[in-house]
Amino acid sequence: MASFAAGIPLGAARAQTTLGPDAALDELAQGNARFVAGKLTSLQTDLDELKQHTAEKQEPFAALLSCADSRVPVELVFDQSIGRLFVTRVAGNVCTPEIIASLEYGAAVLGTVAIMVLGHANCGAVHATMDGKAVPGQISALYAPIRPAIAHAGSDLTAAIKANAQYQAELLRTASPVLAGMVKQGKLKVVAGYYDLASGKVTTLG
Ligand SMILES: [Zn+2]
Repeated sequence: MASFAAGIPLGAARAQTTLGPDAALDELAQGNARFVAGKLTSLQTDLDELKQHTAEKQEPFAALLSCADSRVPVELVFDQSIGRLFVTRVAGNVCTPEIIASLEYGAAVLGTVAIMVLGHANCGAVHATMDGKAVPGQISALYAPIRPAIAHAGSDLTAAIKANAQYQAELLRTASPVLAGMVKQGKLKVVAGYYDLASGKVTTLG
C-alpha cells in the first residue's frame, strides 16, 4: 500500500514563497493596515489571472488558525487575494488533530513560513466555555481545548481570548514535531494575534 506521504507532491511544492517568516508577518500587518484604512487592493487584482495561476498549484506565504465567527473574514482582514493564505478555521481557534494536520501540510508541503493563531473580540466559543452551561449536541466538545486558557486568564473575557490564542500558538510550536522542527530551523514563525471587531485591527500578541 502506498503511503500517504508518497502522494504528496513535494517536488511541485518547492516553488513556494520567497518571503522569510518576518517578511510574511510584515505582509500580514501591511494588509491589515490597508483593511483598517479601507484601502483594499486585493479585490482589484485580476481575478481571472489569479485563478489561472493558482489552478494547478498554490504558494501561500502564511497560514491562519482563526475562529469560525462570521465577523472574522480572514482574507479580507489581511487584504489578501486567491492563493495567498492557507486558512484553517474552527470555533474558538483551537488545535484539533485535523487543524494541526492541515497546518503541518501548509508548512511542510506548501511552504507557508508564518502561522498566526487569530483570536477575536467577543468570541462566543471562549465566552460559552467560561459560562460552562449545558449546550446541545457536540458544542461542548469545544470547551476542553479552551479551558486551559481560562484557567490561566481568569474571568476577564478579553484576557481569556488572548490567552487562548497564545496557548494554541504554543501548542502548535511544541506539540507538533513537524512544526517544532521548522521553528527550530528558523523556517517558520508561529505567533498569536487578536482581532478587534470594531476597529478591524489585528494586534500581534507577545
Ligand atoms: Zn470566536
